[in-house]
Amino acid sequence: MRKNIVAGNWKMNNDLAETSELLTHLKMQLVKEPTAEVYIAPAFTCLSHAFQTLKETPIKVAAQNMHFEKKGAFTGEVSAQMLQSVGVSTVILGHSERRAQFNETNEILAKKVSAAIEADMEVIFCFGEELKERKAGEHFDVVKRQLEEGIFHLSKESWKKVILAYEPVWAIGTGETASPDQAQEVHAFVRETIAGKYDEATANEVSILYGGSVKADNAREIFGKEDVDGGLIGGASLNAIDFLAIVNSFE
Ligand code: PEP
Repeated sequence: MRKNIVAGNWKMNNDLAETSELLTHLKMQLVKEPTAEVYIAPAFTCLSHAFQTLKETPIKVAAQNMHFEKKGAFTGEVSAQMLQSVGVSTVILGHSERRAQFNETNEILAKKVSAAIEADMEVIFCFGEELKERKAGEHFDVVKRQLEEGIFHLSKESWKKVILAYEPVWAIGTGETASPDQAQEVHAFVRETIAGKYDEATANEVSILYGGSVKADNAREIFGKEDVDGGLIGGASLNAIDFLAIVNSFE
């Protein structure tokens, strides 16, 4: 049975004091048995604090990025081992902001995915087309290529540690959401592509999140689609009430 998951990507928001405050609200307001697994991804500087604060709660802490090397002369970078040393065992890889602003290619992402899996980390792997690609009707090809070049080198066994996040770039931070049917169409295509490369069981067991302007008032309809198993949430994850309303949007 695949899991319902809601993950909050805080991006470059919230210093330590702001993180502490938001975590207090999340802890206070999270219901005892949420209908989804909950992750938050604060900045590197707040990961240790977040892990310590949340360790007796069901909320898991993820990093927003990592380097593929274990250590060495890579100024400004953080490795899987460093994340694990502060209690973090999940990492978001391939976010469109990393791809577009930090030149992360499918090739680089494939190395990051391998490094994370080899270190026994869980990976939230993001992919999605840009507006011009959607307009040209190329979105299925783009998504297929991102999967093939970024993550299809993994063994079937490793997919137990993978969560996918379809994030059409044109819907991220824009207020424009893919319609539930558009999300469902791509998610079903992704499952079919995974079944073709691996098998039906692998395709059916992986959770595929949708990301792109998910809010408390549209989450229920999007999450209600058969192949949508939750969301990766940017802006709306910065407010505890909004984020937890999204977490509680499963039937
Ligand atoms: C994101 O950055 O992953 C995202 C989905 O952002 P937003 O929810 O703000 O569109």
